[in-house]
Amino acid sequence: MVNDAHCHFFSSQFFRTLGQKLPDLKDDAAVELPARLGWTAPGSDIELADQWMSALDQHGVTRAVLIASVPGDDASVSAAVARHPERFVGAFMFKPSAPDADQAIERAFQNPRLRMACLFPAMHGCAVDDPQTDAVFAAAQRYGRAVFVHCGVLSIGVRRKLGLPSPFDLRLGDPLAVAAMAVHYPEVPVVIPHFGAGLFREALMAATSAPNILIDTSSSNSWIKLHPHLTLRDVYARALDVIGPSRLLFGTDSSFFPRGWQKAIHDDHREVLTDLDVDAAAQHLIFSGNFDRVFGL
Ligand SMILES: [Zn+2]
Repeated sequence: MVNDAHCHFFSSQFFRTLGQKLPDLKDDAAVELPARLGWTAPGSDIELADQWMSALDQHGVTRAVLIASVPGDDASVSAAVARHPERFVGAFMFKPSAPDADQAIERAFQNPRLRMACLFPAMHGCAVDDPQTDAVFAAAQRYGRAVFVHCGVLSIGVRRKLGLPSPFDLRLGDPLAVAAMAVHYPEVPVVIPHFGAGLFREALMAATSAPNILIDTSSSNSWIKLHPHLTLRDVYARALDVIGPSRLLFGTDSSFFPRGWQKAIHDDHREVLTDLDVDAAAQHLIFSGNFDRVFGL
């Protein structure tokens, strides 16, 4: 059984939001931008939800977290979860420093279809230990929701390919700052994606300090190139040694069609774990059990 803790829901609203920064658009951004990228236009939220559902069925994936990937796009993912509630878990990018953030986070967490707020401190210029971020954690604790905090290197392929500027401050994506916040909200599951994306040691330190921190394994993990001789096998071996299998969440970071769900990532990770002699029970936790525990059924 496989659950994917990290997929992006690139809705029409997602492209229209990106399109606001592109003055040379001639058509609806939800059509023109996917065309420029060679991607399938998402159509309505229901059509995109059905496309995701077919992709999961094609590869035997049971459930997936779908992330609304620009602030203010919660409605798209909420509609997808309403369409296939047994297959999708809703998550949403959130900017804690937005003017209406206090009301917006309440509204989002009151929606039972939205289970996780995704923070990108390096992109949004809002520190993890800022009071505005603290308010997101406090709301997550009140509503029984999770918080995801992107740390380390941040390279957003779709922004790069469209020529959108990415003035990020990587210093803000610090796993140790995440740990300092997470220890105050011990019931809130806190997810650090991509093994810390270059801050692997710090992500493990953070998880050691705060037992509510989980690490997601998603993406190509190209940050590994920053470390001479490091391999995905080493990364898994170290993570399993330090925090064990119950705090690793398998994910792919799948996002656009026609590529769809990235089976090759799953197969690589499965092979690495089998090669490391990780037993079936531990693999079950990583590929699905931890997901079901964190996001409920
Ligand atoms: Zn991602």
